[in-house]
Amino acid sequence: MQSSVRKMSRSKRIALVAHDNKKNELIEWAVYNKAALAQHHLFGTGTTGTLVEQALGQPVSKFLSGPLGGDQQIGARIAEGKIDMLIFFWDPMEAQPHDPDIKALLRLAVTWNIPFACDRATADFIFTSPLILEEYEIIPPDYSVYNNRLQNPADPA
Ligand code: PGA
Repeated sequence: MQSSVRKMSRSKRIALVAHDNKKNELIEWAVYNKAALAQHHLFGTGTTGTLVEQALGQPVSKFLSGPLGGDQQIGARIAEGKIDMLIFFWDPMEAQPHDPDIKALLRLAVTWNIPFACDRATADFIFTSPLILEEYEIIPPDYSVYNNRLQNPADPA
């Protein structure tokens, strides 16, 4: 069965997250890409979102701080098709109290086949792709077998 396509419009809904040791790098990247980011709707975990908003002078829809549930809120929006893209500068050198939430967020990005960058180089490649300003059809993986796994007629309901 063909899985249903999800459309991303030209203007993307982009979530921005950075761990504390990576916040400066994300802000620097965001300022460098200010004009490009102005074409999109920005979301962020609480602290990251506030810093990006101040640095760009562009509104950012803010969730809770990451360790307080913000990563999970973004993951839920990805699953609901309400966030198109994730830029997450996570820190590979420091253990985080909300490690399970981080893992869950990255897992959901893959589960729903959305573009996501975990470092600056990948974010640069995404932002220099022509697709960043085009409509794009995401083909999510086909979960119909999984979704229908309890509906086998041989199985009692
Ligand atoms: P913060 O959360 O932007 O509120 O600091 C980031 C994170 O997930 O650690």
